[in-house]
Amino acid sequence: MKCPHCLQHVSVFSRSINKFGSMQLCPKCNQPVKTYLSLKWAAILFIPVFVSLQSIKLLFINDGFSSSLATGFACGLLVVLSMRLKVPDDAASS
Ligand SMILES: [Zn+2]
Repeated sequence: MKCPHCLQHVSVFSRSINKFGSMQLCPKCNQPVKTYLSLKWAAILFIPVFVSLQSIKLLFINDGFSSSLATGFACGLLVVLSMRLKVPDDAASS
């Protein structure tokens, strides 16, 4: 994900991003940011994720996992890949 302030790459799993309930801060520039699910990116990524799901499914089933677990994994991946950062609404208006 790219920070809207400093345009530096911020990890989805960054600790300061995953502080739910409190203000999310960019770990690079300490400016307030907000994670949101980009539906545009979800739509773009849906097809490649769905296609790779077919091969993931085979892999999962071979390892004894169920295909529903593979589907859940692909959905989780789609959400993580579609996460984007934006400037919080309240910070932008003040
Ligand atoms: Zn930043």
